[in-house]
Amino acid sequence: MTLAERLAHVDAGIADAALAAGRDPGSITRIVVTKFHPVSLVQELYALGVRDVGENRQQEFSEKAQSVGELEGLRWHFIGQAQTNKARAIRAAASVVHSVDRAKIANALDSAGDDGDPALDVLLQVNLTDDAARGGVSPADLERLAEHVDGCRTLRLRGVMAVAPLGEEPARAFARLSGYADRVRAIVPAATWISAGMTADYADAIAAGATHLRIGSAITGPRPVHG
Ligand SMILES: *Cc1c(COP(=O)(O)O)cnc(C)c1O
Repeated sequence: MTLAERLAHVDAGIADAALAAGRDPGSITRIVVTKFHPVSLVQELYALGVRDVGENRQQEFSEKAQSVGELEGLRWHFIGQAQTNKARAIRAAASVVHSVDRAKIANALDSAGDDGDPALDVLLQVNLTDDAARGGVSPADLERLAEHVDGCRTLRLRGVMAVAPLGEEPARAFARLSGYADRVRAIVPAATWISAGMTADYADAIAAGATHLRIGSAITGPRPVHG
């Protein structure tokens, strides 16, 4: 299949899953994750109408965003672990940061905003595993972090993000995430986004209410080997 065919195939799958869940496919944002691929792929995707792309490593993200330059309407989503000392670089290129999981990174992103910048849309990444070493805030600390981010002047809390754990039915994990999204919305009513669903589990994520899908290999093909 060509890139255009893979994109169309995934979009048809998204529409099917949305209709099966009684949802409007137009209410779902499909982010194409381009990590490890050359910047030319972002340009090809843009030519096919893609306007939301995701990257998970700060340096690759910054380099690609810079080399692509201004493309009308293109939004970069940062979906990886964020280091506080890279907050300025992340903020310079990102429209949305999906991976805020502690107050320190929220503060760093907040203070990286310059006067007059638009507010930065952020999501709270929630850890759906029992392993505290995995990325994401533990559910027990979710409300506290939501209140903290809500108090950051230049950040706009939009919702939650998670990755389904290995070794668990994604549907079960995403059902928990939906409950966490409700808890955040009880604090910040406008925080209605749920970023969940990748190549292997996007239909389950849609059934559980995901508003933003992060899909890589089903669209881009296998990722190049990286060092
Ligand atoms: C790589 C990545 C994805 C996309 O994964 P695929 O399985 O290729 O669709 C989604 N979310 C995050 C956080 C990622 O790092």
